[in-house]
Amino acid sequence: MADTSNGICDLHVHSIFSDGLLKPDELVRRAHQAGVKAISLTDHDCVTGVQQAEAEARSLGMGFIPGMELSTTFKGTDVHVLGYNMDVTDKSLLGFLERFEAARFSRAEKMVLRLRDQGLKIIFDDVKDVAGPGPIGRPHVAEALLNNGQDNNFDEAFMFYIGRHCPAYVKKYELSPREAIEIIRAAGGLSVLAHPLVGQTGEGGVAEIVEFGLDGLEAIHPLLTQRSRDWLEELAVEKGLIITGGSDYHGDGRSRVDLGIIEVPFEFANRLMNMHKVQSPKPKVQSPLP
Ligand code: AMP
Ligand code: ZN
Ligand code: FE
Ligand code: FE
Repeated sequence: MADTSNGICDLHVHSIFSDGLLKPDELVRRAHQAGVKAISLTDHDCVTGVQQAEAEARSLGMGFIPGMELSTTFKGTDVHVLGYNMDVTDKSLLGFLERFEAARFSRAEKMVLRLRDQGLKIIFDDVKDVAGPGPIGRPHVAEALLNNGQDNNFDEAFMFYIGRHCPAYVKKYELSPREAIEIIRAAGGLSVLAHPLVGQTGEGGVAEIVEFGLDGLEAIHPLLTQRSRDWLEELAVEKGLIITGGSDYHGDGRSRVDLGIIEVPFEFANRLMNMHKVQSPKPKVQSPLP
């Protein structure tokens, strides 16, 4: 079991700038009230909430690490790569995220048209309302369908309409884990594979992605079994990687665990807080987007 005698941290949470329910400052306050000593905001494909979260964390005397969670595709499966400690004002990072967001926006518009072709009652504004500020993803589309009474539950929306191979699915711009690692590194950040072994990637896939230049593995996450965690910790030792952990909190009713429950040692944050990728000179990343 992890040693949490110095307190706990939470290095994976989502705000309204992706698919979470709370504003960044509210989220940080809630975490503080729940006894979390350091936090990283890791919105999907977005760093817009980072400065607000950081200001709140500083005023509460909490540790803070800038973060994000990039969506990538590896051999046809969704793989998430966490970035920590990037310079969130880095021009090429922000330029990339803007283009990624624009691509997601038009993809969501296309999905809505296809859903309407399927006879479902949905307009793009419904999806935009659910998504709020920040990039639009399929979970927002699923929730809009649910709100309109067009499916029985969230999973069925994926099963029948917007899952891969379903009629209203539209491919998104596909970023590879290797490109995500490069984007994070170019902004001075560290890349960590989010919830590895959850989904279809498997041990072989994780081992392959590690070789693309990852800095760490998220070994503590509500969806990870003890067996997976042991395997990840062993791999981290073998490959000299850091380990991280977090709740993946998205707000009440959208999360598997509440804030302050998952036991991630404060030391994990402490180690990360002053770790940046040392770069000299900073590599120029070719944007993978047009
Ligand atoms: P997107 O990046 O917009 O394609 O959305 C991918 C996200 O949708 C994933 O990170 C999951 O959160 C969610 N998702 C993907 N497939 C499913 C599924 N079959 N059931 C429920 N949620 C899913
Ligand atoms: Zn999410
Ligand atoms: Fe994720
Ligand atoms: Fe997440």
